[in-house]
Amino acid sequence: MIRRRAAIKQKNSVMSADNRMENRFGKNKDVYLTFDDGPNGEMDSILDILKTKKVKGTFFLVEPNIKEYPEAVLRLIEEGHYPALHSVTHDKKMLYEGNPLNVAEEMRQTQKTLYELTGVTSHLTRAPFGSHPYMNEDLRNGLVQYNMKMWDWNADTVDWKHQETEPEKIIENAVKGMDALEEGPVVILLHVTKGTASVLSRLIDRINREGVSFRAYDPEQHFTMNFWHDKRL
Ligand SMILES: [Zn+2]
Repeated sequence: MIRRRAAIKQKNSVMSADNRMENRFGKNKDVYLTFDDGPNGEMDSILDILKTKKVKGTFFLVEPNIKEYPEAVLRLIEEGHYPALHSVTHDKKMLYEGNPLNVAEEMRQTQKTLYELTGVTSHLTRAPFGSHPYMNEDLRNGLVQYNMKMWDWNADTVDWKHQETEPEKIIENAVKGMDALEEGPVVILLHVTKGTASVLSRLIDRINREGVSFRAYDPEQHFTMNFWHDKRL
């Protein structure tokens, strides 16, 4: 009898573990690793890890960095990652306090520089510091007018803060962020930094335990992922 109860108990706990797994972020288990602020000197170590792990990522590039690290941009495209746009100045005042077309103009300049180097036209942008509260309706209209899309994220690692002092927190935050989601897909915010590179391999292993599919952004399968829930973007 005791043994039978134990067996039932065990069965229930297995079931609830399965349910937990499913509830973690719904049935859609697509995970997008997104890296901001590159390219820079840490690009090669990030790309090396992604290559070893056979994981594709999405990179939000800053225009002057594209000019400074053209080899890294060419490499990321060759290796199947997606190049996206992250402005020219990365400056709050320049982007958000002047003409409402400033963001769209900076993204277009970044798009042009990327195209001249690689022949790839990217329409996906990410607003520096995230779109809320800066990207009010006027600014978003500018992006729509320029035929751009805009992604934020739904799982934040806060790696910019922890990368130097407590890189372990980056893994912890990614898992916490995923736990908090009721449904996928998951878009994880990371940055091209040394600390992030130092934990990336283990971060991928940890997330992989959830039975996910890592994906790079695909313009053919665009979905809305912005803090304003603006379906146009
Ligand atoms: Zn940024």
